Amino acid sequence: MRRKQFLRSFISTPRGSDHVRLLLIAFVFVFLLSPWTAQAAKVRVVATVPDLAAIAQAVGGDHVEVRGLALPTQDAHFVDAKPNMALMVNRADLLILVGLDLEIGWLPTLLTGARNPRVQPGMPGYLDAGAYVNVKGIPTTPIDRSMGDIHPGGNPHYLHDPNQGLRVANAIAERLSRIDPKNAQHYQDRLSEFKDVASRRIQRWEAKIEPHSGARVVTYHASWIYLLDWLEMEEIDTIEPKPGIPPSPAHVARLLARMRAQPPALILQEAYYPTATARMLGERAGVPVLVLPGGTDFQGGEAYLDHIENNVRAIAEALEKSTREDRPND
Ligand SMILES: [Zn+2]
Repeated sequence: MRRKQFLRSFISTPRGSDHVRLLLIAFVFVFLLSPWTAQAAKVRVVATVPDLAAIAQAVGGDHVEVRGLALPTQDAHFVDAKPNMALMVNRADLLILVGLDLEIGWLPTLLTGARNPRVQPGMPGYLDAGAYVNVKGIPTTPIDRSMGDIHPGGNPHYLHDPNQGLRVANAIAERLSRIDPKNAQHYQDRLSEFKDVASRRIQRWEAKIEPHSGARVVTYHASWIYLLDWLEMEEIDTIEPKPGIPPSPAHVARLLARMRAQPPALILQEAYYPTATARMLGERAGVPVLVLPGGTDFQGGEAYLDHIENNVRAIAEALEKSTREDRPND
């Protein structure tokens, strides 16, 4: 009641300076409240890596506001937890992570610092996408991170394979529908569209690589097994002796001897790993080196499926070149 009287006296007695007050109120409404309420209606999604951010954007459309933490130029195993990231997590309604220990070096700190009960493990706002994929590379003997291997619970690089990306899209649509039930139909419709487009493109990509089926590939980090399995290629060795362990001279020498004896079709790595060893090996063994982006350029507006398309196209071109160079007399 007192508030009403105050407002009445504030608004309804237009003495000289009150016109200014009224103008100010109008400004507040137009420039502050409207955009804020529009933003508040959206589900605030934070994804640890840009591929997940791009999938969430594809599924959520206009009803989500998506931010990514790691950049495609960063190795998501090793990210500096910055204060602005804690702020993003603090405001999030949904946090999506790759899981399988990929973010174990930096996400727990952010989660503690962010003080956001909505996105803590076990809450609807915490989505561990790794729980929804077919995990590869699960060690047959017990290992832990103290032994240096940073894939102790299985290989976390599943997003290079769009079939796994589809599983994640399903999980994101389901979770968005739970958090924002009034728009559940919207998320299901967008998921269906994403699946249709992805299925058609997956068929085309498989046909593109099919002539190179069985191609043997050396990678820097053991991050391509999902993509290589999907496209029926084979990872024969890695430049890192174990995931997360830089190559020793002895390991590189052994690898070079192996590559010379039976040259693979390709050396493949992400741009965020050092390229010197791959280039040296490629030169000495006569094997092409292909350096690909570490993920979708989400901030630059790239879509997840376009990122996969670019990867597949680059791999096909490199394999064609490799095949031609094998047979110089053709
Ligand atoms: Zn890894």
